[in-house]
Amino acid sequence: MTTLKLEHVDKVYPNAKIKSVEDFNLDVKDKEFIVFVGPSGCGKSTTLRMIAGLEDITSGEFTIDGVRMNDVAPKDRDIAMVFQNYALYPHMTVFDNMAFGLKLRKYKKDEIKKRVEEAAAILGLTELLDRKPADMSGGQRQRVAMGRAIVRDAKVFLMDEPLSNLDAKLRVSMRAEIAKIHRRIGATTIYVTHDQTEAMTLADRIVIMSASKSPDGTTGRIEQIGA
Ligand code: ADP
Ligand code: ADP
Repeated sequence: MTTLKLEHVDKVYPNAKIKSVEDFNLDVKDKEFIVFVGPSGCGKSTTLRMIAGLEDITSGEFTIDGVRMNDVAPKDRDIAMVFQNYALYPHMTVFDNMAFGLKLRKYKKDEIKKRVEEAAAILGLTELLDRKPADMSGGQRQRVAMGRAIVRDAKVFLMDEPLSNLDAKLRVSMRAEIAKIHRRIGATTIYVTHDQTEAMTLADRIVIMSASKSPDGTTGRIEQIGA
């Protein structure tokens, strides 16, 4: 069981005068696939980064299965994040890129090998484990970024526009693969996209965020939650 809950979450960046996220409330059910959509700057990335622990929550509560997470370090959260720009280490092979998070968490060598090989098989990367990111296509790099999240067996998956750097054709096929991986792994997922088709195909529930119309310019209000 992995449920997430955000209650009255605000974010004010250091030195910022306005809230980047205001009074954000969300209940995510076990295994649910949530998609955040909304205009650039409305606070989608900020919200994901707070869940991952990459940004502090200014006020409000974030819990996983009822346990307060606000002050838990990123590496101690059972959360894996896939970034828009892949964030791969260019000097490392595919294997080492995928193994990195496991090494950081002191997994045994055998276990690392097993997990990386399993994830590579799921993603069609078995033949590419010795390559470096520079020698791969955008779609292959995106798979490695996904692989890095999958190997961890994390309870929660966060994906920030993971397909936006791919061409249209690859986006469609990767979209189908993400749906398949979600069915197979069943991790509770929050996914950010600008693409309405992606949102419609992947989401159990779509959360529409809007830049506020309030005079102070506050962003990050939820305008509407639909199925
Ligand atoms: P989105 O992902 O929806 O495009 P972001 O979460 O990136 O939106 O940004 C929300 C708001 O917070 C924007 O007004 C943005 O300029 C601001 N913001 C994002 N990151 C920072 C930061 N590191 N410092 C100050 N302001 C930031
Ligand atoms: P995205 O398109 O994913 O929202 P952006 O291009 O808005 O990303 O932001 C890229 C990076 O710059 C992020 O790390 C974000 O936190 C940071 N950033 C965004 N807006 C601001 C801002 N107003 N001040 C400082 N950093 C910002």
